Amino acid sequence: MEILSPYKEATEVIAEAGGDPLKLCYQCGLCTGVCPWNLVRNFIVRRIIHETQIGATDFGGEEAWLCATCRACVQRCPRGVEIIDIMRATRRAVVSLGIGVVPDALRISAKNIAGAGNPLGEAPEKRGDWTKDIKVKKFTPSTEILYFPCCIPAYDPDVKRVAQATATILNKIGIDFGILGSEEKCCGEAIRKAGYEDTFLSMAQSNIDLFNNNSVKTVLVSSPHCYHTFKNEYPELGGRFEVVHITQYLASLIEEGKLNFSK
Ligand code: SF4
Ligand code: SF4
Repeated sequence: MEILSPYKEATEVIAEAGGDPLKLCYQCGLCTGVCPWNLVRNFIVRRIIHETQIGATDFGGEEAWLCATCRACVQRCPRGVEIIDIMRATRRAVVSLGIGVVPDALRISAKNIAGAGNPLGEAPEKRGDWTKDIKVKKFTPSTEILYFPCCIPAYDPDVKRVAQATATILNKIGIDFGILGSEEKCCGEAIRKAGYEDTFLSMAQSNIDLFNNNSVKTVLVSSPHCYHTFKNEYPELGGRFEVVHITQYLASLIEEGKLNFSK
């Protein structure tokens, strides 16, 4: 009987995530040169790619967790190597196969997202509390825009003002918008990049069902992470709606002359 090592399985999964471009890496090191980590410490991206090519990924080290997925290296790579996909696949292997160690802070956030639907572990029923002193209605199928503030502006006392200021502006202009408050869940963008694919799929499916059941057509977001996930990752899971970032929306209102400044 053939004995399959989890490491063998993991290295195959990671090589597959890198796809054919992984084989094209000719070790030029340009990725290492542009990675912002190297402003403060050594982080040799080229070496990580080489280890992946030869099936010698270091699952026990901290390097897999350092990448901030900024894409600077991907844009610079002359061979089209999808470096972020490789980093993400490495993390997924550590999480799903139980090899290596997930950093404590990340493990706690992942547990909170899976259990409470937000990385802070706050109660879902308090998700809409940021609206306490502002007039914000519950979204219904006849509401024009769903405003999705993201977990941190919904809960964090210091960042709530982002959601509150957004709602105040929308109210002043007379925009027809609403929220789904306690029914919303984390978009799942960061937890997917951290390797927790099942948790991401659970969050995404919950939000997609919620949006579809409420006939949501346009989602207005404050967070670039929600924007990216809703726009680029939800469609293949059945989530098809227009996604607009607040900066785009405000720019269009200014252009149309609906938003004017006195100073
Ligand atoms: S920039 Fe691309 S080709 Fe060059 S070492 Fe990095 S991954 Fe390989
Ligand atoms: S995506 Fe990761 S490895 Fe690439 S430049 Fe950004 S932090 Fe560095």
